[in-house]
Amino acid sequence: MGITIDGKNFAKEIEQRLINEINDFRQEAGRPPGLAVIRVGDDPASGVYVKNKGKACERVGINNFNIHLDSNISENDLKNQIIKLNNDESVDGILLQLPLPFKFDKNHFLNIISPDKDADGLHPLNLGKLIKGDFGPRSCTPAGVLALLKNNHIKIAGKKAVVIGRSILVGRPMAIILESENATVTICHSHTRKLEDETKNADILVVAAGKPDLIDAELVKKNAVVIDVGIHRIPILNEVTKETTYRLCGDVKFDDVLTKASAITPVPGGVGPMTVSMLLVNTVSLWQSHCGLPSTIRDLLP
Ligand code: NAP
Repeated sequence: MGITIDGKNFAKEIEQRLINEINDFRQEAGRPPGLAVIRVGDDPASGVYVKNKGKACERVGINNFNIHLDSNISENDLKNQIIKLNNDESVDGILLQLPLPFKFDKNHFLNIISPDKDADGLHPLNLGKLIKGDFGPRSCTPAGVLALLKNNHIKIAGKKAVVIGRSILVGRPMAIILESENATVTICHSHTRKLEDETKNADILVVAAGKPDLIDAELVKKNAVVIDVGIHRIPILNEVTKETTYRLCGDVKFDDVLTKASAITPVPGGVGPMTVSMLLVNTVSLWQSHCGLPSTIRDLLP
């Protein structure tokens, strides 16, 4: 039986560290850190994520600027909104909540965010820095996964790591980060022929496919470390009362895989809280840089 890797408590520890950093340096900086979150349209899941990010900012003392724009906004107005935030000295980090309404090309708008205010680490310059190993804001979810692995003393160097998923948001930066930590990395995607041939060899398996319950114990090597990035809200209809409730699950069958893995992240309470924490870490790190403060949280960023 494996151990459950607790992301919730570790995220709280990181928040406490950020609270201390902000308290210690706020006076010298002359202002608190600022994060602007832009949400376009009314995607309900995005609404929940944006609210959670705002609450997290409040907890640690980051000024949260919430910008909620109508889905009918023109491309030019959205561009001008981002440029305005790029020029606003009270804003250290800008996050464009995805997904954007269908008509917008997300990459075009992500690229308009100034690289030194890129709280999500998705600007091409920052992705380039990640590849080169230069310091910069990092994609929050993969950075959170690495922090979790390290905090749980999981050895990465020399291990075989398999990442399922190759999105710019999660899979690709995750693979680069694990490779930088000297793992031998395989990336799987929807065209991978025999997924089980890859996953069964993984000492560390990171699953970011966005497919509920994709991975069961059969697909996992004994004593592997399994990180479940997926998050899904599955509706359950009560046939008698006709009420719908929801079950949260990941891409991994938690109870089944727990019997075979040496360690596994739960959903909720695993990677999710770490993603929010790393957004705060990126923002505080950018604030330190903008205000000429010492860079004291580098160890939290891969
Ligand atoms: P995405 O952009 O949809 O990418 C999914 C990736 O998985 C794609 O590369 C796809 O391959 C691959 N894939 C899909 N089905 C597969 C299968 N059966 N076998 C192998 N590979 C498969 O999703 P994402 O943005 O990376 O997010 C992935 C999941 O993580 C989602 O559930 C999302 O909600 C969740 N997420 C959670 C957090 C968090 O904080 N916990 C943060 C971000 C995302 P192709 O490239 O070939 O299409």
